[in-house]
Order: sequence, then structure tokens, then C-alpha cells
Amino acid sequence: MSSNNPSLDAFWMPFTANRQFKGKPRLLASAEGMYYTSVDGRSILDGTAGLWCVNAGHGRSEISQAVAKQIAKMDFAPTFQIGHPLPFELAERLVKHTPGNLNKVFFTNSGSESADTALKIALGYHHARGQAQRTRFIGRERGYHGVGFGGISVGGIGNNRRSFGNMLAGVDHLKHTLLPENVFSKGLPEQGLWLADELEQRIALHGGDTIAAVIIEPVSGSGGVIMPPEGYLQRIREITQKHGILLIFDEVITGFGRVGKAFASNRFGVTPDILTTAKGLTNGAIPMGAVFVGDHIHEAFMQGPEEVIDFFHGYTYSGHPVAAAAGLATLDIYERDGLFERTLEMENYFQEALHSLKDLPNVKDIRNLGLIGAVEFHPAEKVGKRGYSVFEHCFWEGNTLVRCTGDIIAMSPPLIIEKTHIDQLVDAMAKAIRASA
Ligand code: PMP
Repeated sequence: MSSNNPSLDAFWMPFTANRQFKGKPRLLASAEGMYYTSVDGRSILDGTAGLWCVNAGHGRSEISQAVAKQIAKMDFAPTFQIGHPLPFELAERLVKHTPGNLNKVFFTNSGSESADTALKIALGYHHARGQAQRTRFIGRERGYHGVGFGGISVGGIGNNRRSFGNMLAGVDHLKHTLLPENVFSKGLPEQGLWLADELEQRIALHGGDTIAAVIIEPVSGSGGVIMPPEGYLQRIREITQKHGILLIFDEVITGFGRVGKAFASNRFGVTPDILTTAKGLTNGAIPMGAVFVGDHIHEAFMQGPEEVIDFFHGYTYSGHPVAAAAGLATLDIYERDGLFERTLEMENYFQEALHSLKDLPNVKDIRNLGLIGAVEFHPAEKVGKRGYSVFEHCFWEGNTLVRCTGDIIAMSPPLIIEKTHIDQLVDAMAKAIRASA
């Protein structure tokens, strides 16, 4: 056993067909820029920014140095009842990028924790304002909000829910927005604005004053890479506002430049009441999540008696000094290198390259926005088999990492991507699609 050839017995891998994996393990050993190196010494193009998180590319020495320096200086400090400067500093820097009045930040350690925190903030907000009857949530089919019980309850992916008993009570789901009439749309699809009006039906069914919040991903990722139809998010915003329902955007994947602005909310010009993030916040280097809340939400919590803790919630590692140091160094890079804007510069080339795959065998749909792309396939005899085959072929033959969810291949490369990398990514996909026909 060596570090490049470990025993695979003890580690139970998350979200993995563990038995299948052990037959032919895919193991990565190091990473730099746009590439991983596998344990067998191959250079693998990172078409996924790790898991939608390494937006500034791998091996950023500014981040590793900041992390090393912070561990040496102060490895840990609590943020319950006592604090340290770094999360204050990071929060101040972050809110310069958020839209509207999203000026307050609650730190978590992951996207799942951010989702559950956001749901609890929504409930706490209504409670503080004397509307404790607002306990319902509305999520969406195919929505993904992590794996906490709150997240899987408002999420709409069957596999995440089916084996796990009762969910949070009082949750309803809107339809997803993947429509056959929108196939091969570039950017935002034209059809489907009417799907937002379904929210009015849900409100009519339950009573608007029983609903705490609607939670959606501006662009769904894990549920299959689904773009919002033109005007859809604006319409959802109008309806929620009309009924005093909070709107939560889960920007765990769309945050930090993925769609060409700091957040998808900025790009779409729609400000939610609460916005959740993680991943790109520290470039994936140290686990950290953040929930941004509007001033009006925060203010409601601050109205209570002063001697009472305003929000009975938090994690040992909320605002962890090492994570905060990583976050600050990451933000330095994003800002200095203009990486959020860079996405917009590359968007068109990425789009046209992806759509060049349109006529290959079994391609059912191609979707893209910013540096997010997806190719969906007509299923083979077993659903998910073709997607998995393309993924495997890309990895072993094309030296390229893409992500498969069922028969959909998702791509979300680091924002430092160059045209030559896009060519390599699409070439690997083309070969893998032909080989999987
Ligand atoms: N929300 C969304 C939209 C996500 O894509 C993810 C992770 N892929 C999460 C929440 C959960 O994040 P984590 O895995 O960090 O808990």
C-alpha cells in the first residue's frame, strides 16, 4: 500500500457506486491550474472545477500561503460569544459583491448547511415578526439543496429522498423548467415563463400567509443543469413579494462568477431575501459556506430583547479562521484577475463549442449559460448508462474530467479556462459520445 495505491476497503465514498468504483478506481493525485494529475501520471483536464468549486483554478499559492500562515498564527477560535477579526473582514468584503440589501453574512461549512441555515432564518424571521404560522416551504422538482433533512425536503430529486423516511412537513414543490420545446436553447430558454405562475396556484391552495419561503436554484445543477426561462425568476420574485413570502436563492454553484457576475442574482437583476453559497467562496480549498441575508431580515432578529441570543443556530466552525483566510485570499484573486467578468468573455466561445456536438449520436439536448454547460443523451437500454459511459470514456481515453448525472453530462470548468482548453474538452466529449453510441 502506498499513497498512490491505497487500500480501498475502509473509506465509504459519498455519492458513489462504491462496488463499481473499486473495480477500476479513478484516483487523482495532484492539481495545478486547469489540470489534475491522476495517480497513474496522466494530466487530466478539469472540466468541472472539481465539484463546481475551484473557480480560480488549482494550486493557487496565494490561498495555500494564506492558509498556512493562518494555521500557524491561530488555528482555531470560536465564534460563539467571542470572535476574531477574520470573518468580520471577510463578510465586509463579500457583501460588496452581493446585490440589493444582502448585507449580512452567516457563515457555515457547506452548501447543505447553508440551505438548512437559510430555511431556519426564514422561519425565525416570520416568528420574530409575529407570523409564526408561516411554516411551509416551496421548493422545486429536480432542485438540489444539499443533503440535510431541510435540504432534501425542499429538494426535488427522488434518489436523495426515497430511502430516508419522513421529510420536513409542509413542503410543496413547483414543477422544474426543463421543457422539450426548449431543446438546444443557448443561454436562457424562451418558453416556460408560465411555469412561474404555478406558484400562485400553490399559494391559493395553502394560503399565502402559511408559506415561509420559496427556495430555488437560479440555475439547477445536480438536478440536470436547467436554466431558468426568460423572465421566470423575475416573476417568482414578484409573486413572493406580493404575498410576503421570502425568496431564497441557492447559489452554491452559481456563486462566485460561474455565470459572469459575482452571483446569478446580479446577472438576472433579481434580488432574493436570502442567498446561500459555499464552494467557490474558498475556491474549494477549505470547506466554507455562507448565507447572505437582506437587511430587513437581519433587522427582524435584532428587534428582540437585547439580552437574548438573536438566532439560536450556528456551527463550531462558523467563521473558522483558516477558512476565512482562504476566503479572503480567494476573493483577492477573483477581484484582481477580474475572473467573474472573464466568464462573460469566454461564454460565447464555450457555447458555440458545446453546441457543435449537437448532431452526434444520441444527443438529445445541449444547454449552457456562463461557464456552465450540459449535454443530455437519449438513454440507452438502462437509464444513466450512456451518461456514465461518456463520463468514463472522457476520463480514461480523453484525459478529461466531466460530471455525469444520469444521462446528462455537466461541465463547469474553472473560470481561468482558455479557448484551447475548451477545444480539448469538447474534443474529448465528441470522441466519448461516438464511442458510447
Ligand atoms: N446546493 C446546491 C445548488 C449544490 O449544488 C450543492 C452541492 N453540489 C449543495 C447545495 C450542497 O453543498 P455541499 O455538498 O457543500 O453540502
